[in-house]
Amino acid sequence: MKSVSVFDLLEEVHSCPHCQSRLTLCHAPPIHVGDGLGWGSEYLFICLNDECSLFVNGWKNIENNYGHVGSYRHMQIPGSDETYSMMVAGRQAFTGSIVDPDQIRKDNERHRRSREAVEQLKTCVADKNLEPVMYLLLDNHASLEIKQRAAELLTELNDLACIEPLRNHEFRDPHLEQTVNMAITAIMAAHFVKECPYCTELVKARATVCKHCGKELG
Ligand SMILES: [Zn+2]
Ligand SMILES: [Zn+2]
Repeated sequence: MKSVSVFDLLEEVHSCPHCQSRLTLCHAPPIHVGDGLGWGSEYLFICLNDECSLFVNGWKNIENNYGHVGSYRHMQIPGSDETYSMMVAGRQAFTGSIVDPDQIRKDNERHRRSREAVEQLKTCVADKNLEPVMYLLLDNHASLEIKQRAAELLTELNDLACIEPLRNHEFRDPHLEQTVNMAITAIMAAHFVKECPYCTELVKARATVCKHCGKELG
């Protein structure tokens, strides 16, 4: 099967032989219901018309033949002429899987940015570039291993600008959180500053009064 981009698929027009409605491009479910094999495609064209005769008549058909609730949607596999009457458990099946081109563009952009940031980790210390490290540490999609690699560069980067965003971020992994906290402590020490325990602003390590909130520091 030749590989076609999802944006090309979105341009393709296929109609349902039962109701003539245009089929909707949906993300394929991970498992081929019935035989446990994949569809061989990430996407499926599906008739989501609730007035479609196949869908309307399917309820009776399935109840009579199988004794449970369900119906059929007409489905076509992209890049082939294969069509199926696919069993669905309800009206909502696949309505949550409709391909959203904006979402796909965003996902592609995120993947591209993420790969770029991982690549930049190799040179960011020499470049004094905190940005890729912060991007990966604050990106919920980056793997824990990548985040850990990024966190281990913080101390060398020695940039106070990392502190506020990292303090505002909740790290779910205790080891990663510890690496980040140790880096922040080292960076503050290298800059002779400390965090005011009352207002969390950075003040000189020697300060006895916080210049931001006026509280006495121990
Ligand atoms: Zn139809
Ligand atoms: Zn303060």
